[in-house]
Amino acid sequence: MLPNAYSVTPDSYRSLSDEELTARIRARKAELGGRVVILTHHYQRRAVVALGDHQGDSYALCKIGAKASATYIVFCGVHFMAESAVILARRDQKVFLPNPLAGCPMADMAAIDSVYGAWEELHHLLPGIKIVPIAYMNSAADLKAFCGRNNGLICTSSNADKAFAWGFERGEKLFFFPDEHLGRNTANKYGISRDRIFVWDFNSRPQNRDADAIRRAKVIVWKGYCHVHSVFQPHHVLQIREQYPGVKIVVHPECTEDVVALADSVGSTSHIVNYVVQQPPGSIIAVGTELNLVDRLSHQYPDKKILELAGQTCAMCVNMYRTTLADLAYTLDNVDTLRPMSVDEDVTIHARVALERMLAIGG
Ligand code: SF4
Repeated sequence: MLPNAYSVTPDSYRSLSDEELTARIRARKAELGGRVVILTHHYQRRAVVALGDHQGDSYALCKIGAKASATYIVFCGVHFMAESAVILARRDQKVFLPNPLAGCPMADMAAIDSVYGAWEELHHLLPGIKIVPIAYMNSAADLKAFCGRNNGLICTSSNADKAFAWGFERGEKLFFFPDEHLGRNTANKYGISRDRIFVWDFNSRPQNRDADAIRRAKVIVWKGYCHVHSVFQPHHVLQIREQYPGVKIVVHPECTEDVVALADSVGSTSHIVNYVVQQPPGSIIAVGTELNLVDRLSHQYPDKKILELAGQTCAMCVNMYRTTLADLAYTLDNVDTLRPMSVDEDVTIHARVALERMLAIGG
């Protein structure tokens, strides 16, 4: 879902050169001083990241925003991130998403009506069974609130295993949204056998579901996926190992389990950055995540050879790429008058409950 009350960056901004926009952004930042903080996700373009105050993954940035003294939080990322920043922000803070078209197709795969339908269907099938819902950070605010209302929680790719442990202390089954692969990879790590993981196809009709497989399952995973991370295939790993003997391969847990099984290391974007930093000079590292992060890392660490895992296959998040210098400049210039991102009060309250449960388990 996209914010509905946003001005679109006018052509007068889009026609400026990168140099003009950069100068304008710097000047406006200086003018606003401590009133604004610019948060840039790891997958943003290099030019945007260079002008931000903080770079990180979605959850780390939301926490930074909430702790900042700034009144204006400009979140260069996608819609669910800015929503999460609103949920965690103080009442005096305003959050802006510079490009309103920057959504997340994976988050959109778990539409709340569909989730409620599945929840009802499951309870009809499993009377008296306690099911704990867990939503990945990469989900819409209303799904986060659903977890808060139904004794569940949120997790990130760093603490999904802790969220599983938390869930199994409180229920017999987990329902994980929206990413099948993070859910499956976490279940694998947790030692849950394949026949006890059920993939909930939200496009399938109830009569087509295997009721016995659902009764047997410990974990039910929503059939969502990230089109960026699911680009990576086992043959990419095999090819790069053949081409570069000794290469280290690090991937994100939104990749399929087959890719994860062949990698040297798996973890969140922050884990990937740390992994690259820790490899000695001269290392060859292939990275299975969004190409803008890989590109930036390769420029930051010229003493290492840093490669995209899938080579010429374009593992790019177009939604992350939507935010341009023009969008950032326009937002900063008009931050006093633009309508900020908002989340329904009731949704905020329940989503915050689910996020606070995540905070309690640690990262
Ligand atoms: S990289 Fe994948 S999960 Fe992240 S914003 Fe893009 S589509 Fe969504």
